[in-house]
Amino acid sequence: MSNHKTHQSALPNQSTQCVWSGETEHALYEGATQQPVVHSVSFAYQNIDDWHAVALEQAEGHIYTRNTNPTVRAFEDKVRDLEGAAAATSFSSGMAAISNTLYTFLRPGERVVSIKDSYGGTNKLFTEFLPAIDIDVRLCDTTDYAGIEAAVNQGCRLLYLESPTNPTVKIIDIERLAKAAKAVGALVVVDNTFATPINQNPLQLGADIVIHSATKYLGGHADALGGIACGSRDLIKKIYHFREINGAALAPMDAYSLLRGMKTLSLRIDRQNRNALIIANWLLQQPMVEQVNYPGLPTHPNHDVARKQMRGFGGMLSFSVAGGLDAIKEFLPRLRYAHMAANLGCVETVVGPPLVTSHVECTTEERAAAGIPEGLVRYSTGIEDVEDLLADLEQALCNTSRTNR
Ligand SMILES: *Cc1c(COP(=O)(O)O)cnc(C)c1O
Repeated sequence: MSNHKTHQSALPNQSTQCVWSGETEHALYEGATQQPVVHSVSFAYQNIDDWHAVALEQAEGHIYTRNTNPTVRAFEDKVRDLEGAAAATSFSSGMAAISNTLYTFLRPGERVVSIKDSYGGTNKLFTEFLPAIDIDVRLCDTTDYAGIEAAVNQGCRLLYLESPTNPTVKIIDIERLAKAAKAVGALVVVDNTFATPINQNPLQLGADIVIHSATKYLGGHADALGGIACGSRDLIKKIYHFREINGAALAPMDAYSLLRGMKTLSLRIDRQNRNALIIANWLLQQPMVEQVNYPGLPTHPNHDVARKQMRGFGGMLSFSVAGGLDAIKEFLPRLRYAHMAANLGCVETVVGPPLVTSHVECTTEERAAAGIPEGLVRYSTGIEDVEDLLADLEQALCNTSRTNR
């Protein structure tokens, strides 16, 4: 857990934080400018008193890597600062961050309110694992704010939100719903993976805890799994305690990869925000494209909420192609600058149909009810030159339309 004071003065701006936060406080080995990867599982002491003081958290230090580790802490400090939090604790994956946070606060008989469009793994926690221990889960229509408020007003321990959502990039009014949750004494947890701290800071909108799958944008290079939860010292201390005992600790090597990736987070997100907006506008004009979902488009149903709570609209969009599944089976493999894969948020453009990724276990009817036509493509915009991405989309679409006529 990272909760010690590092910055007495005002925090610097985001790009500077991406580069410097978390990096400056540890004695770097022999003048190294980069954070060492401390693989050591345990940390030795010269005398029992020093060891005891660290164990009692009366002195700074590390004892055992399942609890804390210098490389892991540097990563935690960087995200903590970017989210404007007092403390942060990390995990072996985004799902570990989510499940550990939910299990820390929910007890049998208590109620959690959330949305139908949460990330697939999160949805499984809500539909399979939490009900099994007698937790009352209420999943509401994602943009029915009044419906969510009504569910919250019936009393709940925790309100769990995600915005933008996967894959239809719906937007939740975090400030409005956090207010409703506070009124009944519920904790507000927000998965900020899609937005990143560059585009949105849920704690400033009234959330108590913000969670990331660091595997996606924070790391940005699709080569390390990780997760993190940020919030007040008090709340993070509880989550940290659950994690230290249940054991889903982030590995030092992965912490290093994520830390290095994060130095360019602000640069990457700036580019991805710009690329995605240009691509979404371009897609709107293509006769082969039937529907474009992107919160930066004035046609998006929650565009006004997105403008209010986000600094940028993110790199994620989705669109549907005429001809449905048959069409995208031809279209997607024709893209030269896009991996067909389940991942998102990395430097390369990544595409995938929700049909085989986030919503693989749903029936056609369930997908239709969630606003996911068979021909929907989830598009995670990379940092490539947008001219090349547009040309690539154009050649792939144009060949598809010819075949399908
Ligand atoms: C990927 C993802 C997760 C899960 O993260 P893992 O690191 O894969 O465990 C959770 N929430 C969102 C929004 C995601 O995209």
